Amino acid sequence: MKTINNNTGISVIGLGSMGSALASTLINKGFQLTVWNRDENKARTLIELGAQMADSVESAFAANPVTIMCVSNYEAAHSIMAQVRTYDKWAGKTFIHLSSGTPKEARDMELFFSSKGAEYLDGAILAWPSQIGGEETTILISGEQVVFEKVAPIMKVLAGNLTYMGREIASASSLFSAVLAYLAGEWIGFCHGALICEAEGIDVEVFGGIMHKLSSILGAELAHMGKVIRHDDYYNPESTIKTSGSDIAKLVQHAREAGINSDLTTFAAGLFKKAIDAGHGEEEHAAIIKVMRNI
Ligand code: NAP
Repeated sequence: MKTINNNTGISVIGLGSMGSALASTLINKGFQLTVWNRDENKARTLIELGAQMADSVESAFAANPVTIMCVSNYEAAHSIMAQVRTYDKWAGKTFIHLSSGTPKEARDMELFFSSKGAEYLDGAILAWPSQIGGEETTILISGEQVVFEKVAPIMKVLAGNLTYMGREIASASSLFSAVLAYLAGEWIGFCHGALICEAEGIDVEVFGGIMHKLSSILGAELAHMGKVIRHDDYYNPESTIKTSGSDIAKLVQHAREAGINSDLTTFAAGLFKKAIDAGHGEEEHAAIIKVMRNI
């Protein structure tokens, strides 16, 4: 492939919220785009900005040396690929897949593309659509380094904090899954906190503001947890599982007293109790991973 510059044509498949943000950012930076989406109406604005609409998935792939795909999930990606009848023109083409999925799905997708002679990179977007193109926006990419380096000028336009995760194709999706697991807890935890505020007459926006102010301390705490778990060093706690577990048990009591949902608090209190029962009460709270490791 020739050196990438603003004259390089790029195909973008998938024009939902994220795909449209990727495509419009590339167009605004001067790249020539060919786009394809199942619902053609979603291409209208991009066509007005100068994008070409491909009449099929096959012609979108054929149009340019680099194709970016971002659709709901890998099932959607496979159903799009099933529309391709001939892979004659895929040799040497580069395909960057940014739909979210599991590590196994990334490995299977790489096998599919390499069997067709195409270069494959698997990526994960750690941003909202409105953040695409930002200096601090993070996209993780896995795959062959030489391929990554070829397309890095394109991907840097989309994410200032473009991060190469190495040759193992599943690394980006593995880390995406880990981040999402964290976010699932954060979102549910925040909403339980909001229920407490509603029940007790506290402005939820004030709660949000307090959490914002705590965010750098919480960030440092996450880095600390990573270190503690990595080095199996739970034995110098500032707060023990016994103390945190007793505080969390009070949340179950509060939910009962206030008549609010207790799904999260019952689950969390149960996990901490399990860790105490297993003899980890004097260790720091990251040690709950020891009971979580038991399937
Ligand atoms: P979206 O707005 O719901 O768009 C979904 C896209 O997938 C549309 O282009 C849709 O086509 C296409 N699609 C779904 N099923 C299909 C099928 N069977 N055949 C053909 N096309 C199909 O979703 P999104 O927000 O853009 O998300 C896309 C990916 O980005 C997801 O994997 C998501 O996890 C990831 N992501 C999103 C965000 C975010 O904040 N939105 C953040 C990080 C990562 P139609 O338009 O024809 O329905």
